[in-house]
Amino acid sequence: MRKSRPQLSDVVMAKSEAMLQQRSGSSSVASESSDSSATSVSSSSSKSSSVSSSLWWIHNKGYDLEEFVQRHPGGVEAILLGKGRDCTALVESYHPFTNQHWKVLEKYLVEQPEEDNINEQIPTNDRNDPQQRKDFFYEVLKKRVSTVLISKGIDPKDDRGATITRTLYYCVVFASWLYTGYLHLSGRILGSFLFAITGWLMGALGHDAGHFSASRIPWINEWGVWGMSFICNPILWQHQHTYGHHSFTNEFGHDPDLHHFDTFLRVHKRIQRQSHYRYQSNGLYVMFAYLFVVFGTCFYIPWGVLRTNSLYGIIEWSDKDRRTKSTGMRLHLFLYIFIVAVVPMYTHPSLLSAIFASYLHVGTLGLVFALFSQINHLNELSLESDMISRNEKENSKQHSTSRRDPRLTQSWAAAQVETSNNFASQSLFWHVLSNGLNHQIEHHLFPGLNHCHLHHIAPVVKATCLEFGVQYKSYDTWKDLMCATLEWFDKLS
Ligand SMILES: [Zn+2]
Repeated sequence: MRKSRPQLSDVVMAKSEAMLQQRSGSSSVASESSDSSATSVSSSSSKSSSVSSSLWWIHNKGYDLEEFVQRHPGGVEAILLGKGRDCTALVESYHPFTNQHWKVLEKYLVEQPEEDNINEQIPTNDRNDPQQRKDFFYEVLKKRVSTVLISKGIDPKDDRGATITRTLYYCVVFASWLYTGYLHLSGRILGSFLFAITGWLMGALGHDAGHFSASRIPWINEWGVWGMSFICNPILWQHQHTYGHHSFTNEFGHDPDLHHFDTFLRVHKRIQRQSHYRYQSNGLYVMFAYLFVVFGTCFYIPWGVLRTNSLYGIIEWSDKDRRTKSTGMRLHLFLYIFIVAVVPMYTHPSLLSAIFASYLHVGTLGLVFALFSQINHLNELSLESDMISRNEKENSKQHSTSRRDPRLTQSWAAAQVETSNNFASQSLFWHVLSNGLNHQIEHHLFPGLNHCHLHHIAPVVKATCLEFGVQYKSYDTWKDLMCATLEWFDKLS
């Protein structure tokens, strides 16, 4: 789907590689990952960088959608998330069952790529028509998934939000979260633990809303994403997860999720080895590292973004000039520390007890979050299936003996399947406990579909993958998938 990056992203890319190199002290980061942007950081990058930040870049074309922002059916936040960026994956994956958006986009096209910059491998008859730049595998999936949804009585365009049952579930979790929050603030140790569990379960609403799929009503999604509040800063989440992780899954130097924990863990072979990584062959060390995850995502990382206006130099914080967003980011930091750490100091009988309660909350949530989210993409097969790795393999002719359709190498949808993993996908128990992350493959293909619909489409997605030779990794149990992740960490230790 995404073949080459527009100019603004190229500048960011060059910067990001320098910053990543600084962060990890790794020369290999720059030398190896630069392959992906070698064509993009070119003489043309200076052509319009001042204009680029005000445009939306889709299939390498610049669109000025400023006039359309307030009329976007999916809401203002959804469309602004793509501004000034390569938002091809966002546009494609959030409009899978309609072509109406292409008609709208036509009116706002202001910048065409130079002929030289068009990737020759794009299977198209007419390069000027975005609809001709089809990801053939995604097209097949979209048709089949649409048919299945209709057969289940679900309108693919209008019913992609939460069902009544799912909405009731959100309400029950929200009430439990409020009550356990009260217990935590009242100085009960058990309350701090339960507040962490309900804080995780609130992530079901936060994650769905962050993908604009809790409801078709935009303001519900805009508020709902604050359900992420004790898992990750919700404003950061949109840039880190909804944009960065989902657009560039497992691409080193582009997917922020590969760079969160390099203080403790080496999750990708391009992170330079350090002596302490040898401990990650021990599962207990990995669990210890996970205890700090939400302190990072709720405080340390957003604090860094506020200081640098960028997430690791990979993703620019494009909201920085919007007062509601910058105030919201600061407000979240303040309230998080106040609720998690300050109030317990006044309500617990001793400072030691207060510190224990605070860390019980942070550590429990960090552990649960990491145990359900890290396994979804971090294992050897998944980390060798991203778009960068595919292109490198193709360039080195490693696929020359493969019988697969060569177009799959350039298929963003095939990459989403192969970089993701399902587990216990038949189990309602694991669906609830994991906030639906056990259907990660379907979620990455159709992020705008509420998690409550994903079990309907899983069989047809799996069958289609088998038919086209796309690797669909579904583990029988959570433990099997966890073991695959630990094996990978052991290999990298
Ligand atoms: Zn997601």
